[in-house]
Amino acid sequence: MKSIILFGPPGAGKGTQAKLLESSLGIPHLSTGDMLRASIAAGTELGKKADGYIRSGGLVPDEVIVGMVAARISQSDCLRGFILDGFPRTVNQAQELDTMLKSIGRTIDAILNFDVNDDELKYRSAKRAQDALAAGQQPRSDDNPEVFAGRLKTYREQTLPVLEYYQKTQPVGVVQHIDGMLPIEQVSGQIKKLLA
Ligand code: AMP
Repeated sequence: MKSIILFGPPGAGKGTQAKLLESSLGIPHLSTGDMLRASIAAGTELGKKADGYIRSGGLVPDEVIVGMVAARISQSDCLRGFILDGFPRTVNQAQELDTMLKSIGRTIDAILNFDVNDDELKYRSAKRAQDALAAGQQPRSDDNPEVFAGRLKTYREQTLPVLEYYQKTQPVGVVQHIDGMLPIEQVSGQIKKLLA
């Protein structure tokens, strides 16, 4: 059983690494961003609520997110563990996750903090938008430069405190740091070593 959290700013490579880990560990990748985008595409009530927050670069309210994650981790494919990507993003979400895990007798095995500088993050967001256009797809509404700058601000103000929270409350060794500036294969090598 493994409960793993991939933590870090938008564009740090959490989604890419989560997908690789999903296939190597055989446990599901739970991305709250993907879940929200799927709800928006499906036109659900939850999607309608979330859309404006996402477009503005802000966070979707905790109660919406926490309910969505609680429903997802109670599904049977999560019994052997899961990889969280993009959650928790506030200290309140982290506390709610603690409560959820406690109620099912689980703990967090690893919190991997991806370190990437702001210039690289901005470059990756712009590249993702360009790649989408080149493939004839609509870029993500939050991958334009202005909104992305807002997402970085939101990360610093509301999400970084989650790292301090975990450093204070988790046993030594649970929070680990990843050099997210390296190429994908090297990042994935670092993660394998840390989880071994
Ligand atoms: P992501 O794909 O993880 O970068 O998420 C895209 C957007 O979805 C974020 O900028 C937020 O607006 C929203 N979102 C995703 N996860 C969360 C979360 N845990 N809490 C609040 N908002 C979230």
